[in-house]
Order: sequence, then C-alpha cells, then structure tokens
Amino acid sequence: MIDTYRADRHVFQPWGAQDGGARLEITDGAGCWFSDAGGTRYLDLASQLVYLNLGHRHPALIDAVHTQADRLCVVAPTFFNEVRDELAAALLDISGTGAGRVLFTNGGTEAVEHAVRMARGHTGRAKILAHYRSYHGATAAAISISGDPRRWPNEPGVPGVVHFSGPYTYRSDFDATDDATECERALRHLERTIEFEGPHTVAAVILESVVGTNGILVPPDGYLAGVRRLCDRHGIVLICDEVMSGFGRVGEWFAYQRWNVRPDLVTFAKGVTSGYVPLGGVIVAEHIVESFSATPFPGGSTYSGHPLACAVGVASVAQIAAGDLLTRARTLGATALAPGLRALQQRHPSIGDVRGAGLFWALELVTDRDTKQPLAPLLPGRGGTEAMAAVAQSLREHRVWPMIVANRIHLAPPLIVSDDEVEFALGALDHALDVADSYYRA
Ligand code: PMP
Repeated sequence: MIDTYRADRHVFQPWGAQDGGARLEITDGAGCWFSDAGGTRYLDLASQLVYLNLGHRHPALIDAVHTQADRLCVVAPTFFNEVRDELAAALLDISGTGAGRVLFTNGGTEAVEHAVRMARGHTGRAKILAHYRSYHGATAAAISISGDPRRWPNEPGVPGVVHFSGPYTYRSDFDATDDATECERALRHLERTIEFEGPHTVAAVILESVVGTNGILVPPDGYLAGVRRLCDRHGIVLICDEVMSGFGRVGEWFAYQRWNVRPDLVTFAKGVTSGYVPLGGVIVAEHIVESFSATPFPGGSTYSGHPLACAVGVASVAQIAAGDLLTRARTLGATALAPGLRALQQRHPSIGDVRGAGLFWALELVTDRDTKQPLAPLLPGRGGTEAMAAVAQSLREHRVWPMIVANRIHLAPPLIVSDDEVEFALGALDHALDVADSYYRA
C-alpha cells in the first residue's frame, strides 16, 4: 500500500511518473534509501532519475556545498572562478579528451542543445542524426532529436533531424539474432542513412553510448567504433550523450570508454553532482574548440558553471575515485547483480530479456517468451498496463523503489549500494516477478 499521497496543487508537474503511477511525499534520504512522510523507507533502485550516484546525504558532498557557500555562492560565468576551472580540468582528465574545454550548463537538455549548436557551427552543416530509441532532453531541439514518442507532442519540431535504428538484438529491426550480425547490419543501415541524406549535409550523429530510458541497450562490441569510423570518413561530429550513462553508471567514467572510442563532444549532467546541485555541460575536443577561436563561445546562460554545483562536482569526482567506485560498479554488477537477475530469469518465465552493464540493468517483461509479446507497450510514454502497475506495487510493498519504463524494470542503484542491499532488491524482485508471471500466457 502507498501510505502517503499528496497531490500537487501549485506545481505544474512535468512529464509523467516513471514509477507505475505512485507519487509519494518524500521527506528524508540517507545512502541508498529514502523515506516518505509516513516514515516508510524505500531502497532506491532508480537513483531517483538515474543520477544519485553517491546516494543521499553524502558527507563529502554536503561539506563541499557548505564550504563553497561560506566562501562564494554565485559568480557570473564572465569571471574566472577557481572551482569551476578545477572541475573542468578534472572532467577533461577523466574523459580522456586531454586538451579541449568544458562548457557548463544547468542540466542535460541544455548540454545537448549546446552540443548541437557546436556541431553545426563547426561543420557548417545542419542535419543531426539520432537513434529512434533515444531521449536527449525536453527543450525544442533536444526533444526533436529524441527519438522516442515524447517528441510527438512537439512535432513538427526543429528542422534537420533524421532518426535511424540502432542495435537492439532482442528485438532487432534488422532481423538479426546475434550481436555480431546486429552490429554489422545496424552500421550498414547508418551508412546508407548518411548516404541518402547526403554526407555533406550531416553535422552530427548523436547517441547515448548506452541507451538509457529507451531500454538500457548496451551496444554490441564494435558498434560505437563503427559509428566513429563512419563519422571520420564523412567529417561528421560524433556526440556521445553521457547524461545518464556517465560517472560510473556502467563501471567507467563514461560509457564510451568501454570501447576506447573518442567522441568529439560529450554531454553530461546527473551523476556529475549526484543531482545535489543541478549541473550539466559539454566536454569539447580541442579541434572543435578551435572552430570557435573568436571566443567566448556564443552560448551559455546566467548560471553556467555555478560555483556551488562545481564544488559538488569536484567532490563527486574525488569521491568516485577515492572509493574506487568504477571498479565497484563493474564487479558488483558482474558478480552479484547480473547472476542474480539471470537466476531470476531461470525461475520466472515473464523475464524475456536481462541486459545491462555495471550497475545499469533492465528486465524486459513478456507474456510469452516465444512471441516476445511485451507486458506493456514497448515505447516509453505510451501508457502503462495494469500488469506493470501491479509489478511496481509489489516492489513498493517490499520497500524497493524501481524505475518502471514501458514493459521493463530498470535497475540503477547508487554506486555505493552494498552487497546486502543488492540481495534485498533481488528478494523483492522475486516477489514482484511472481506477479508478472501471473499474466504469463494468461
Ligand atoms: N540525455 C539523456 C541521455 C538523458 O537521460 C536525459 C534525462 N533523463 C537528458 C539528456 C536530459 O537531461 P536533463 O533532464 O538534465 O535536462
């Protein structure tokens, strides 16, 4: 049972709930847990909206806010500020971009907007190619670039956006049944898309290095490198959107590092501060920076590089490094979460697919493994079903807060999650999957 529910009377609620419809009043948080107004605690398997990488009430992040606030709360981006520069240097370092610069924004959407403008300015071309299964943000260009149905109410959207299919072996758009074939065919499809569009008109390919809300799709080995080659061949800018997959989520600072690929532009937000203070930005490779040598770059906003946010960013990077949390995410994912989820798949016929990396996993629920009939409409934003709502309800009753998207349970706990908490989550999932099984071939 949901024990507390309070409707917003004054807040214009953005988007829909990604939790099966329940809305609680949240009053407290500590580590991987949060509490509602009635005192019920939930293990946050969603890290809120996949950003609370270091958990609630982390002392080093709180200290960073206090220390910076005591010294200087705000300063316009027109001034030099040490903590801002320190964070930019740290981001260039961990991203493997080396030289280059960082443009700070207030979140992920603005980062995507600026990355697109940079790609267009750098190439003098207009078109942006993006996956159908993608989400890149909520403002005019970013929502147009997003491939999922959340773009539909905004259409016709901004001109110059072209969508294409990326790899998703479980439900292949290319009739492939194995990763290698899926990869090869997806790359051929992109190559043809570029040819039909006219390579000299394409400014950028943007993709989530690991697709987030659209299914936690880890691309097959070779895909990202293949996209990089196609971009190089035609002078197209490669933008990796790391807003959700960055800062340790898949056991790397940024997911593209799994495949040793170097993007030209990297968009980030969320995990850079664990969301304590809103921050996003674009990591810009040196050759793109050079195109804008008439500095300053004609973009940014009043709060770009806000010192409170940057101070938390510096502390977050330091904490992830000090706790060796990249290794922790990789090993806990490989030794506890993945085998635990695969064992659940053995017991529960409703799990059609288990996929993910690090601490970023999805269970795709079906009513028939042979036909792969989904337990809810496959596309996000197309409404849930009674079955998925019942699954979410069961998880909540067992004090686990999931992210439910379409016919999937997404698992993205804070990187500080303990072995015991993973066990606790797997136990709750076991019960919830009994509920899902009751719809199997029913
Ligand atoms: N890109 C990706 C991959 C995202 O997941 C999101 C947010 N879920 C965004 C961009 C937009 O970021 P924000 O909500 O911070 O504007």
